[in-house]
Amino acid sequence: MAELEKFQMVINGQWVDAANGETFESFDPYTAEPWAEVPKAGAADVDAAVEAAYQAGRPGSEWRSMTASARGALLRKFGDALMEASEHLGEMETKDNGKLIAEMGVQCKYLTQWYHYYGGLCDKVEGSVIPIDKPDTLNYTVWEPLGVVACIVPWNSPLLLLTWKLAPLLAAGNTTVIKPSEYTSVSTLEFMKVVEKVGFPPGVINVVTGFGADVGGPLVEHPKVAKVAFTGSDATGSDIYQAAAKSMKHVTMELGGKSPNIVFDDAEMDNAVKGAISGIFAATGQTCIAGSRLLVQESIHNEFVDKLVALAETAKMGDPMSMDTQVGPVTNIPQYEKILDYIDIAKGEGAEAALGGAKAMAPECGNGWFVEPTIFTGVKNSMRIAQEEVFGPVLSVIPFKDEEEAIEIGNDVVYGLAAGVWTQNIRRAMIMSDRLEAGTVWVNTYRAVSYMSPFGGYKQSGLGRESGQEMIKEYLQQKCVWISTATDVPNPFVLR
Ligand code: NAD
Repeated sequence: MAELEKFQMVINGQWVDAANGETFESFDPYTAEPWAEVPKAGAADVDAAVEAAYQAGRPGSEWRSMTASARGALLRKFGDALMEASEHLGEMETKDNGKLIAEMGVQCKYLTQWYHYYGGLCDKVEGSVIPIDKPDTLNYTVWEPLGVVACIVPWNSPLLLLTWKLAPLLAAGNTTVIKPSEYTSVSTLEFMKVVEKVGFPPGVINVVTGFGADVGGPLVEHPKVAKVAFTGSDATGSDIYQAAAKSMKHVTMELGGKSPNIVFDDAEMDNAVKGAISGIFAATGQTCIAGSRLLVQESIHNEFVDKLVALAETAKMGDPMSMDTQVGPVTNIPQYEKILDYIDIAKGEGAEAALGGAKAMAPECGNGWFVEPTIFTGVKNSMRIAQEEVFGPVLSVIPFKDEEEAIEIGNDVVYGLAAGVWTQNIRRAMIMSDRLEAGTVWVNTYRAVSYMSPFGGYKQSGLGRESGQEMIKEYLQQKCVWISTATDVPNPFVLR
């Protein structure tokens, strides 16, 4: 076995090991072998990192003294440096989480846009002067940073989901402690080399690696953390929300989904087939926006499923580092086992596997954690396979009669992250977009995101939004200032 590559984390601008000296291994999902060794931090490291972030963000610090324009210039410079490092960062992502280099390479190049966009926004956050209803008074508002933001990130797209938090929080003048997933810490540590090169003041961006209970828990409870920006499962999100409430922290929650991808009989069928495939088999289904419930109008159900199976069975599995691989391994063993359990659950509930439905054992899958692209038909929306997030390449096909029934089934889950609609009828597109309970509705496309467009969930898919102009306010608080020029103070016992 090759020697493990060793990584350190960053606290107050210094590369450090965990205070207790402990480490843990990170695995390559394609070889199922450990390849990297990462600090296994604990509460003492969290405390040091939060203190560093707190001091770096205090009034009078180098960071807080920068003008908004200078901060914007630094963010744009950082975006450029990330572009230069994007190929390497993409490879680190693929090595650590097994997602395709074809996707992670593009994703890492795209990070730059968030830093350019929010860099441009830094000096456009303006307060207002209020024409207040009191004489001799100047009343105005300013927007101020919240303080230390804890970014807690999952394993499926580590640097993209971090960037959705980091770019706006820095633009707003906050500082941060980042906790990457224990399954995919390496790309964030490599990302910190770009942070170091660009020259953010020490303590502004800190990374503490480790497990949820050892690092995430103390971070969420730390009295000097002002906000938790979290992406992950709804179960962990709920725990964090409750813990954060104890000290009245701000939160943003980007959680799970069970998104309906709805195909009407007037849809351009070949495009809709591709849309269904991209909704569930891209990223091996390990994406919160997976279109994991495919709702197909009864009149085209059988023809559509035949076309879908025919295209899905051509998907090339194998080495995620190879540019022509289309379906890679699952990122970690617990997730692999969870997906296989859900396949058994679906079969037990009476769903029929029209494709796949097992571990993938083909030679090109090596020892990796591969699951066959799986399509279940005969699914009822009440089944667990239709209600619970699998987070893998497992699709449930559910027939529907008409618009009313599509809306009813589409909304009949606890989640509301996204939805897809395939139709050529504009009236139908508008009605469906209006009535689907989801933070994002795609019509005749799927799985599109942008730094300009707000992203987040309805219902139990989350709280708050990421990306877009308005969400910089998620990292700011408003202060209202009253200045009186009156020469005397009237009756002090009465509200002014
Ligand atoms: P997870 O909830 O298990 O872990 C997410 C992060 O939280 C990890 O860094 C983990 O170490 C940390 N954590 C775990 N327990 C904690 C605790 N008690 N306190 C603080 N931190 C803790 O999620 P995951 O398995 O890494 O990621 C998959 C999930 O993420 C899926 O449910 C998926 O839908 C969701 N997700 C959502 C979005 C979105 O934008 N809505 C995007 C991607 C993934």
